[in-house]
Amino acid sequence: MASDAHMVIVGAGLAGARASAELRAAGFDGPITLIAGEPHAPYDRPPLSKAILMKGKSPDDCALFGDTFFADQAIDLKFAANVVEIDRAGRAVLLDDGDRIGYSRLLLATGASPRTLNLAGWALPGIVTLRTVDDARDLATRLHRGQRVAIVGGGFIGLEVAASAVAAGCSVTVIETGERLLMRAVPQEIAARIEARHRNAGVQFRFGSQLVAIAGASAAEEVRLADGEVIHCDTVVVGIGAVPRTALAQAAGLEVADGIVVDDRLRTSDPDIFAAGDVCSFPHPLYGRRVRLECWKNADDQGRIVARNMLGEDLRYREVPWFWSDQYELSIQIAGLPAFASQVVVRETSDALLLFHLSADGSLIAASGVGRAVGRDIRIAQMLIGRNARISAEELADPSVKLKSLLVAETA
Ligand code: NAP
Repeated sequence: MASDAHMVIVGAGLAGARASAELRAAGFDGPITLIAGEPHAPYDRPPLSKAILMKGKSPDDCALFGDTFFADQAIDLKFAANVVEIDRAGRAVLLDDGDRIGYSRLLLATGASPRTLNLAGWALPGIVTLRTVDDARDLATRLHRGQRVAIVGGGFIGLEVAASAVAAGCSVTVIETGERLLMRAVPQEIAARIEARHRNAGVQFRFGSQLVAIAGASAAEEVRLADGEVIHCDTVVVGIGAVPRTALAQAAGLEVADGIVVDDRLRTSDPDIFAAGDVCSFPHPLYGRRVRLECWKNADDQGRIVARNMLGEDLRYREVPWFWSDQYELSIQIAGLPAFASQVVVRETSDALLLFHLSADGSLIAASGVGRAVGRDIRIAQMLIGRNARISAEELADPSVKLKSLLVAETA
């Protein structure tokens, strides 16, 4: 790629920031502009629902790179900037302050926004969502002993915040529309372990519950459920999923369908425009279908791959998905996509519950685990999944068979 080419990245979350660094690491020495919607240098999101809430860590503790990284790398990082239009014919993005930035290659890494509720009382103070470091700092000031926290949504945000709020001495009620926790993310057996641990810590749950209103004189004081129950609270945390931020792409005429549609090289329907991270819908070769993933590893991996492809390489994206969540002393990890499996094999050890998810033809396509120590086994499972390994259900179920030995057998 000629050094007078201009690389422009919209969105400075993990995918966008990683891509900017990778462009330099790959030897590109032309101009790079990284456009951040927030007034902060790129930061990591996993601490927002944990370390910032529990340990009072500051945004600087979460920075993805050192203080001088972007200056040292000659990456033009624009803070609190708002791109309002992509001019594809003129190959430029337009900002709301009137600025126009030309591009040779454009990366859309615009992420996702928290879903909101169309509900009476939604605008009351004391109702918070959690996506940004400023959201986390605001929520941290609300979590202290004696506070009553109502959490809407029993997904990853809801449960991580519940664990942090309990640790801070709050009383916590989680309201979930589904009949169990993490319905789409983890199998029933894993969800039951997580629920039991939260109950043990004092968290209360309402399943199959529909919120009808949030009420209060000048701030949220109670949430009202469809069955007539009223839950009194000081803060309402809403974690009911995220919506990909596709408006710019859609207005520019790019193909959009539950995310910006890209090919397996992360290229949109315009060959000079790419997308990566939470916002993009891509074909996953291991699953033979299009997926959109909202997780740290996907953003990190796609940021690296997309940068190389923006520079003219031809790398196919085929990483095995991996998610993790830490709640209390429990680690929850998932490699691959369990939802697409047709058989489940259970392995129970003294400190973990592991589930292996097989396709109809017997290939290992996902593994999920909960316990004090699941990381090593899930990492090995991740490698086996990447190799399309076929392993007998008996071996997978038997805790005396080391997963590592199965990996060695596969390699041989
Ligand atoms: P999420 O994990 O998708 O969970 C949302 C939960 O809220 C689901 O169980 C959903 O049920 C439920 N729900 C939806 N509408 C509801 C309503 N009106 N009332 C009560 N419950 C409702 O989303 P999230 O927790 O908001 O997290 C947002 C994003 O951040 C996700 O992409 C998540 O993966 C990511 N995140 C990841 C981590 C991690 O990987 N450790 C940590 C924090 C956040 P249905 O499934 O039935 O709709």
